[in-house]
Amino acid sequence: MPELPEIILLARQMKKELVGKTIRAIEVLQPKSLNGPEEEFAAGLTGAQIADVTSRGKWLFVETTQGWLLLSLGMGGEILYLPHRDDLPEKRRLVFDFSDGTCLSVNFWWFGYAHFVRPGELEAHQMTAKLGPNALDLSAKDLRAMLHKRRGQIKSFLLDQSKLAGIGNFYVHDILFLARLHPLRTADTLSEAEVEALARAIHDRLQLSIDKGGAGYEINLYGQKGGFTMEDILVGYREGEPCPTCGTSIAKIKTGSTSSFICPRCQPLDR
Ligand SMILES: [Zn+2]
Repeated sequence: MPELPEIILLARQMKKELVGKTIRAIEVLQPKSLNGPEEEFAAGLTGAQIADVTSRGKWLFVETTQGWLLLSLGMGGEILYLPHRDDLPEKRRLVFDFSDGTCLSVNFWWFGYAHFVRPGELEAHQMTAKLGPNALDLSAKDLRAMLHKRRGQIKSFLLDQSKLAGIGNFYVHDILFLARLHPLRTADTLSEAEVEALARAIHDRLQLSIDKGGAGYEINLYGQKGGFTMEDILVGYREGEPCPTCGTSIAKIKTGSTSSFICPRCQPLDR
């Protein structure tokens, strides 16, 4: 599943390739991914010129002269830029044809969203309006304010897209390890130094992945795999291997409905 680094990279690449292009035609092969009737979606965006592409959490925001195209890949998928229509992949749910003959193909592995939002109505789009701030833009001060009086567990907080947008299972284990925090710590018990370490860990992990082109199991707008692979993972998915800091065996533990990978020595539950 793409997380913040992969989506940020896709947004940058889409911005570079698509800004200034005009949508000539739209092919919809999965109408249930839309937020309204297919005709309305096509009529809304046909003829629109792309003005900008940004992202928040796992959502891409394509701003056009006729409103917004909001895309979410859901459990995973590909967004590909193709210089020629002949190169379209077989697996696709939506195709945007541009007036210069290039196109954008969107595929969802399972189910995703392609929503049209009229100009000025972005705040009324519920699925994106309730997203928290981008995890990468967060300062220690912001984070401290968000954790204040929060009784939940720190891992649940990090994964909650309405609190903090963009962190998922692939990066969360190492973020907690770098901050030396047990995933079940109660959010408001973190010391000031721990909050600072957490803010730094969030930023450093996500930025490292962005610098390496995103996760190795995802592909970018040009069909290339990212360079952030299992070799870059510190404790995640490494049960039984030695902790890179102290050598203790990495443990896989149950944390609510999810599993977590931790170093029991570097990340004790009781401080
Ligand atoms: Zn350790």
